Formats: sequence, structure tokens, C-alpha cells
Amino acid sequence: MLQVKDVSFGYTKTKVLKAITFNVEAGKNLAIIGESGSGKSTLLKLIYGEHDLKQGEIFWKDEQILGPEYNLVIGYEFMKYVTQEFDLMPYTSVEENIGKYLSRFYPEEKQKRTHELIAVVELEAFAKTKVKNLSGGQKQRVAIARALAKAPEVLLLDEPFSHIDNFQKQGLRRNVFNYLKSNNIACIVATHDKHDVLGFADEMIVLNHSKIIAKDTPQNLYNNPQTPLIASFFDEFNVIENHGIVYAHQIKIVEHSDLKAVVKTSYFNGNSWLIEAEYNSESIFIAHRVNVQKNEQIFFDLV
Ligand code: ADP
Ligand code: MG
Repeated sequence: MLQVKDVSFGYTKTKVLKAITFNVEAGKNLAIIGESGSGKSTLLKLIYGEHDLKQGEIFWKDEQILGPEYNLVIGYEFMKYVTQEFDLMPYTSVEENIGKYLSRFYPEEKQKRTHELIAVVELEAFAKTKVKNLSGGQKQRVAIARALAKAPEVLLLDEPFSHIDNFQKQGLRRNVFNYLKSNNIACIVATHDKHDVLGFADEMIVLNHSKIIAKDTPQNLYNNPQTPLIASFFDEFNVIENHGIVYAHQIKIVEHSDLKAVVKTSYFNGNSWLIEAEYNSESIFIAHRVNVQKNEQIFFDLV
């Protein structure tokens, strides 16, 4: 189990993280979400041992994670970290980048393992390509495969699919997260993309103003978002008097009700339209299966 115990940290006098405490069991997937600058990357760096802790402790099993003050070489064998920069070797091939840390004394084993990982990140066609000739998204995939090469027990992923286009994103997410589950690798993913979380994370924590403001399963946080910040991570929402936070899809346009609004704008959203209407001189957002014309009067109900 990974244990983060009462960790506070700042690069300067200002604290970026305050009293952070949580655990991750072997093989579990934990998502860390929060706005840009909320400290997600800093938290991953601390878990990796990139900075010395003045307050709090981090353990993997019985081993305490220590920073550069105690470790000449940053990091531990059992843990890999895919940063937002993914520093690869540009002048060598995809294959060589991934196989770099695998023993060359077992060439067959090494090749088999390299190809298995290339398949996980769907880069078969680029195995022999030099990394410098790859797109940002392809480089990101090489970085993920390389981190998996030596079978870590813990994998830290910082916005792992941010450079990958939508055509391939969802399939790749399933590949990578299923691979981690079936190999019992604990995974901590920092992200601001709900698609990295829903369907994959066992638990998620929300960082805001240096603190953990929520920690629960994605299902529970989605169904019962305690703050607008949490709701905004998942979907369009409204704050309605006496009802609190209501997602756009939880409002229905009906024939008649006491709640009346006037349509201002609408946005095509795939399987629905997002209707922006004026209600009590404020905007309200409603997900509706068809478009509604501007200035039309509508009635709505909460479901
Ligand atoms: P996130 O990953 O959630 O966007 P970061 O952990 O990168 O957030 O940053 C958290 C805060 O720490 C930000 O205010 C950022 O400016 C600051 N910060 C990050 N890295 C450094 C650094 N090396 N030196 C000083 N301040 C930093
Ligand atoms: Mg970051």
C-alpha cells in the first residue's frame, strides 16, 4: 500500500499542498483532479521522491520515500513516473526507448516484452521510427510504454493522454488501464479530464486551495457533487435555489410547470443540445434531445 501521511509542501514559503493524507492499495487506480496550478504535479513529484519533505511522510509498503537529500539518484525501482514532459531519447527508435532498461542478456525475452508494450500503446507501425520524428501524442505513448517496461509496482501518470487525439484516446485509455489492472500495478493519475477518471478510477481525490476537498469513488462524487468545482469537472450544471447543484441533463423541458424560462442560445452537443435559457434573470443550462429556437418560452422540471 502507498501511504501519504499528512504531507504539506511549498516551493517557497507559500504552501502548495497542505495536510495531504491518503492511501492507495496495490493494483488500485487513484485519480487526482484539480484545476491547473492546484498542485497535482507537485503531489506526484513528492510521491516519486523528487523533493525533500519537511512535513509528512510517504511510504510504499515498509519503505519510506525519500528525496534528493537522502538519495543520490532520484526515484525507486518499484515506481515509475511519466511526467508532462516525457523525456525520451530523441535519436533512437521507439523500440530502443522502450527496451532501454530491459536486460540485453536475454534478447528474446527483451524483444517479446518490448513488442507486448508497443501493442499496449498501439505503436506497432512506428517501432523502428526515431522518437524525434514522432508527434507529441506518439511520444507520450512511448513514455507510457517505457515506464511499464520493467513492471513497476506503482505508476505515476501526469495527464497521460493530454497529447493524444480523440480518435485514439478512448481505446488507448482502456488498453493502458486494463494492462495496469491485470498486472496489479497501483496507478495514480493526475488529470483534469473526466474521461481519464470515469470508468477507470477506483477512487478520486479533488485538490483545491492546497487541500483535499473530496475523496470518494467517481460514482459517488458524480452523483453527489458537494461543490460547484466538483460538478464542473464532470458536466454542465446549475446551482438552483432550494435544489442545489443540478446537472443540465437533470432538467427536463415539459409542457407546463411553474418554472418558466426563455431560450437564449443553444449548442449542438452530440446526443443532445445544450440549451441556455434565462430563468430569474440568470442563465440556466438544460440538456435536451432536440434544438429549441432562440426567444422561445419553455417550461422545465427537475428530474
Ligand atoms: P498542477 O499540476 O495541478 O497544474 P503544479 O503542481 O504544477 O500544479 O503547481 C502547483 C503550484 O506550484 C503552482 O502555483 C505552480 O506555479 C507552483 N510550482 C510548480 N512547480 C514549481 C517550481 N519548480 N518552483 C516554484 N513553484 C512551482
Ligand atoms: Mg501538472
